[in-house]
Amino acid sequence: MSEKFILVGKNLEELENFVTELGLTKFRAKQIYNWIYLKSVKNIDDMTDLPVNARELLKEKSVLSDIFIKDKQISSDGTMKFLFEHKDGTFVEAVLMRFDNRSNLTACISTQAGCPMGCDFCATAKLGFIRNLTTREIINQIYLIQADTGLKVTNIVYMGQGEPLLNFDNLISSIKIFREQFQIGARRITISTCGIIPGIKKLAQLDCQSTLAISLHAPNQSIRETIMPVAKKYAYNDLLETLKEYIQTVNRRVTIEYVLIGGINDSIRNAEELAKNIAKLKCNVNLIIYNTHEKSNYKKPDKIAVQKFKYILEASGKKVTIRLERGSDIDAACGQLSSKI
Ligand code: SAH
Repeated sequence: MSEKFILVGKNLEELENFVTELGLTKFRAKQIYNWIYLKSVKNIDDMTDLPVNARELLKEKSVLSDIFIKDKQISSDGTMKFLFEHKDGTFVEAVLMRFDNRSNLTACISTQAGCPMGCDFCATAKLGFIRNLTTREIINQIYLIQADTGLKVTNIVYMGQGEPLLNFDNLISSIKIFREQFQIGARRITISTCGIIPGIKKLAQLDCQSTLAISLHAPNQSIRETIMPVAKKYAYNDLLETLKEYIQTVNRRVTIEYVLIGGINDSIRNAEELAKNIAKLKCNVNLIIYNTHEKSNYKKPDKIAVQKFKYILEASGKKVTIRLERGSDIDAACGQLSSKI
């Protein structure tokens, strides 16, 4: 069973080699390729333009995937959370969100099981670091979501479990597969990082055309280092400097993510200091309202504090959005992914 050839994750050439070894014509590979990446069929039997004997042979010698959906939850707002199980028993989650009045179907995917960054307010951090996901494990999240729902994902955000820039090579190769095989445009892909400076520099050199989002979450170094240990390694000003260079190199705006936590980083003074510090940065700001969970004692910000914070940043000339809270009733919202089974 385990020696069967695994189809999802293979490129066209690998599929061509495989089908010719089976004695099928090379042309079958392209059909299989489309069934995997564009249609994301659940079963080999669903590849209806393959002759029955070709399907039988494929079933005997291959499987679509060896990763499984262990659990699935649906929020009252329609958000779906998927728990995937890998062969070594590790679990990882991804979330599928639909935003009203938009034709987008956005999947939020993970790059690591657990997370090593230790952000004090985040439930994933409390899991600790388990391991990096392989490229195949990253792209299977999209394949399995598409296969399960029968829908095509249009946008991807690397905002699930883990720190994408600490699994750099697999991040980049997964993006390549999403672009070339799943045909999801680079501009519909967002990478979120807590601020790994060497990773941002490496990314700048690749010019991958996806959006870079930075979990800044603080107006200065001292607040940042109380909630995000990464700030002790990569200082606030150095991070802003690196972002300036990044923006110059790739000639694209970044997104500054800022989770508003009641009484920690949500005052008018905090907003003014943030506005000043990012004044010269070509960026949009995405405010996230803190999602509560049982692993931290932080509080949500007051509604009025959120509006004041937004106003101050807008008055300084920034474009500001407030991230819609999605799936919090099933622990699928930002910072709530903790692979509970
Ligand atoms: N490690 C990457 C990817 C995770 S993205 C990063 O830090 O950017 C998940 C986003 O949700 C991050 O911005 C994270 O800081 C934020 N987040 C974590 N816990 C949260 C919570 N409880 N409420 C709201 N946002 C949270």
